[in-house]
Amino acid sequence: MLNSNNRRAGRSLLIQRNALETNEVIADKNKALFGKAFVMNFLSSPGSGKTSLLESIVPILKSDGFKIAVIEGDVETDLDKKRIDELNVPAYQIITNGTCHLDAKMVSAALNNLDIKDADIIFIENVGNLVCPTSFNLGEDMKVVVLSITEGDDKPLKYPAAFYKSKVMLINKIDLLPVLDSDVAKIKENALSINKDLAIFETSCKNNLNSGEIKQDRLNDFVSFIKDNVNLKASKIKK
Ligand code: MG
Ligand code: ZN
Repeated sequence: MLNSNNRRAGRSLLIQRNALETNEVIADKNKALFGKAFVMNFLSSPGSGKTSLLESIVPILKSDGFKIAVIEGDVETDLDKKRIDELNVPAYQIITNGTCHLDAKMVSAALNNLDIKDADIIFIENVGNLVCPTSFNLGEDMKVVVLSITEGDDKPLKYPAAFYKSKVMLINKIDLLPVLDSDVAKIKENALSINKDLAIFETSCKNNLNSGEIKQDRLNDFVSFIKDNVNLKASKIKK
């Protein structure tokens, strides 16, 4: 009995490994299709503010002349894609029908339906989940983990892979700090204990969405970071 259970467990591990190997092959193809475009894959728990962040930073980058495309991942609806459509950039909705992460194959299908020919930047909003999206390379240049300060200081310790695999952590909704007990220093300390090379930005989209006026101060550093990386990638590809 024990033996057959072990065998079954072994077989299921093998299937998982094969699936991830296949994913890597497709991710490499996606990477080639992305070309010079700099691609960021946003990971977070549900409700951390990924879509609002995109609604805030896309107009800023657009007004600076960058061409942008967005791939939205959601389990059931295209509500977030409808919000992105308001920004007048090419956008494609992947509906995973229950699957709690994006994989390279889903993104590959999206690329058949999305005009990325001129794109300088492609933002991928993954399904809200800090667990399995970390295992799937989509062909992106970097993963960005978004943590809102409402989520607790210990999130990096509870979901280490998301922080280990990301190049950037955004501490979002920082405008709420005065009304919360969150300890930003502790969040940073915990995240850096998992990944000492994480680039960390404190962000807020408050006031960015209302009134038509774009208030950039809580997004400036992250936006500059994106621009630097766009230019860096474009210069490498040209060579
Ligand atoms: Mg969203
Ligand atoms: Zn999943």
